[in-house]
Amino acid sequence: MTGTAVEFRGVQRAYGSTFALDGLDLTLKEGELLALLGPSGCGKTTALRLLAGFDKPTAGQILIGGSDVTGVPAAKRDTGMVFQAYSLFPTMTASENVAFGLRMRRVGPTERKRRAAELLELVGLGARGDSYPHEMSGGQQQRVALARALAVQPSVLLLDEPLSALDARVRVQLRDEIRRLQLAEGITTLFVTHDQSEALAVADRVAVLNAGRLEQVDAPQEVYTRPATAFVAEFVGVMNDVSVQDGRIVPDGTERTQIRPESLTVGVPDGLPATVLTSTFLGAVTRLVLTTQVGELTVDVVSRLGLPGIGDATTVGLVGGGH
Ligand code: ATP
Repeated sequence: MTGTAVEFRGVQRAYGSTFALDGLDLTLKEGELLALLGPSGCGKTTALRLLAGFDKPTAGQILIGGSDVTGVPAAKRDTGMVFQAYSLFPTMTASENVAFGLRMRRVGPTERKRRAAELLELVGLGARGDSYPHEMSGGQQQRVALARALAVQPSVLLLDEPLSALDARVRVQLRDEIRRLQLAEGITTLFVTHDQSEALAVADRVAVLNAGRLEQVDAPQEVYTRPATAFVAEFVGVMNDVSVQDGRIVPDGTERTQIRPESLTVGVPDGLPATVLTSTFLGAVTRLVLTTQVGELTVDVVSRLGLPGIGDATTVGLVGGGH
């Protein structure tokens, strides 16, 4: 990971008086997976489309491998793209879908077939080359789409919420496979998502976008534990906003502290009185929302028998706090 593979330089995209992107400066290093994270309408898709060449910035430049590609049409850019879903050609088999880009590049039929088989093998679908998209599950179709994007050996891979149409289990599985493949191929990747847990799990760095502007670009751990702005703190996971004195939550403190749900716990001797409003079993962890005199607090506790249920009275305090 040395060179700079992609650079957005002061990129602006205006629609009338709306700025979908407002002076985006962002660099992807060679071989890096960068997740572009933000809420609906923040400009993620716009950034991706500009990089792919489907759209043109109203100001600024886009560089791939150090060359200015701002005016270069999509077909001449060295990028491969995976869309949200249903983007395979329905009348082509998996193998023909994967080989499509190679055909466009005038690669001969024998070599196309060989390469398509190799790529389908790579995404775990070696035996499904003759299947049509409607004969495959959503997860399998997205694997084919990934193989198709990689077939032309692009220098940049663009992923536009590629997992959003899949169910939770397949989503995690394919997410991890994408990461494994991306690392193995060493391909620079821009992964657009509105799902913070997906971004944190998969990326080398996360860029948080809000209303067309970058809020923070950092390693996942940094974004989570040291959010640069209130927006990032709120968007990347849940934050409780409380006053703490001597390791205790106090109702009348002046200084506010932001505390993650996993840093709070229930059933604390001498803790702040609380009532359970909601309880969500998330597997290893149970998320409780509590009403207290300082407002609602969200607490993640290790799932176990005997946790307070909805409507129960309990107490809340800091993990390892002064009690
Ligand atoms: P989502 O997650 O919902 O896809 P996004 O972060 O990808 O959202 P964009 O699609 O990039 O957001 O849109 C950014 C902003 O630009 C939005 O306010 C949107 O309404 C506006 N916008 C996008 N395309 C157009 C267009 N063709 N004409 C006018 N406004 C547009």
